[in-house]
Amino acid sequence: MATKMTVIMIDNKILGFLLIPIQNTNFRQSILFDLWWIDTDDHLHIVIQTTEIYVYLCKKDRWSKEVDGIKIFSFPPAHLPPQHTVILKWVSLSCTTDDIESELKIKFESIYSVEDMNGTKNDKTRHVKVEILSECEYNSLLNSGKINLHGHLYDVYEFLPPPKVLMCNRCNKPGHTKKSCRNSISDKMAEKPC
Ligand SMILES: [Zn+2]
Repeated sequence: MATKMTVIMIDNKILGFLLIPIQNTNFRQSILFDLWWIDTDDHLHIVIQTTEIYVYLCKKDRWSKEVDGIKIFSFPPAHLPPQHTVILKWVSLSCTTDDIESELKIKFESIYSVEDMNGTKNDKTRHVKVEILSECEYNSLLNSGKINLHGHLYDVYEFLPPPKVLMCNRCNKPGHTKKSCRNSISDKMAEKPC
């Protein structure tokens, strides 16, 4: 068992936290952050760019609750990155997210969240977003391509987040913002229908 912990100290005072010893022998990376800072409310913010570490720390029980008498409250992110998310499409409304979660948990231990996707609901079905902590379970679900829920077979898709397109709200053209807009106002006027 590997035991790795990180303590943030300033002026010999512990301001940070201890991580619970790592039980999972598959996890061999050191816990390192790309960036961290403490804001004026004494909240510690952490930026992590490594998917594996990010996902590892998403589990609340991996953070200590107290260090040297200082109570630690952790607020892991609500969602896992797209690399740990799959979509089940056209799932019947009669199958609730709770039903789906309990059925998935029989086969997959590391289900993180199950929720309806906004804007995909019609009168019979909707798409459902499933987040999975374990990369191995994620791959196994995605590669199987199908999942059986309440006797129905549903297709499993990779989650591809919508691309973020920059739109200028001065000239309404894509690719730049108002601040860096070089289109002259006369261009804008010329494009307007009479
Ligand atoms: Zn513009």
